[in-house]
Amino acid sequence: TAILKVEGLVKAYGAGTLALKGIDLTVEEGEFIAVIGPSGAGKSTLLRCMNRLIEPTEGTVSFLGEPMNGSKSHLRRWRSQIGMIFQHYNLVNRSSVLENALHGRLGYMSSLAGVFSRYSEEDKRAAIELLVRVGLQNEIYKRADELSGGQKQRVGIARALMQKPKLILADEPIASLDPKSSAVVMDTIYDNCTSRGIACLVNLHQVEAAKKYATRIVGIKGGEKVFDGKPEELTDEM
Ligand code: ADP
Ligand code: ADP
Repeated sequence: TAILKVEGLVKAYGAGTLALKGIDLTVEEGEFIAVIGPSGAGKSTLLRCMNRLIEPTEGTVSFLGEPMNGSKSHLRRWRSQIGMIFQHYNLVNRSSVLENALHGRLGYMSSLAGVFSRYSEEDKRAAIELLVRVGLQNEIYKRADELSGGQKQRVGIARALMQKPKLILADEPIASLDPKSSAVVMDTIYDNCTSRGIACLVNLHQVEAAKKYATRIVGIKGGEKVFDGKPEELTDEM
């Protein structure tokens, strides 16, 4: 079964910019897809339409066979099943690493700092287990803004995993990191998604990283899909 299906996706920002010009894309179970393309190609717009952080101008997005109907309750249910990882981490800086991971449980897009008591002991145990799993056992009670970039991104990964998602969408997760941290972060995303059967779609502008991890590569240029295939089929121009 398809996890996520995008059909005829068009996104115009105002009258000027046509960021997506009719994208069709299906994410199947167990896939680890890298979306590559130059800056401004539309990769970020595509991901945001998939999670409905922005509204597509035309086209449909379906999750597990069900098209998004636009209602608030559907949107909430939709986002709860899709984990998001961002380039700039989107952590609550003044909160602890543990609290940030727990935000995945309530929906971090709307969560506030200082609501620790809302979480069950079971959730806290699960969050600690995930933080150990991503190598942050010594950072659990630190404030998020005390961490390095690579550590912050691993909090972002733990937060996404707390949702027990069917799909993880990662928007340039390593674009702000040095090569060593990038490798750790990509390994962490890859290992946790594949071992849990979570499908993953990750925007990358590093073609090398895409080739190393992806089971499938989608190339976007000027809002159009120009490549969709196996990493070894990728031509030099992409
Ligand atoms: P990528 O992620 O591949 O760098 P984006 O999806 O961020 O590409 O951008 C695609 C195009 O849409 C670019 O021309 C960009 O300038 C434009 N764009 C992105 N976000 C907005 C916005 N909020 N308002 C207007 N134009 C935007
Ligand atoms: P990131 O590096 O985190 O992807 P970007 O620099 O691509 O961030 O974009 C930051 C914000 O600016 C986003 O909300 C994006 O939608 C918006 N944006 C990007 N390009 C444009 C544009 N040409 N006009 C207006 N807003 C834009």
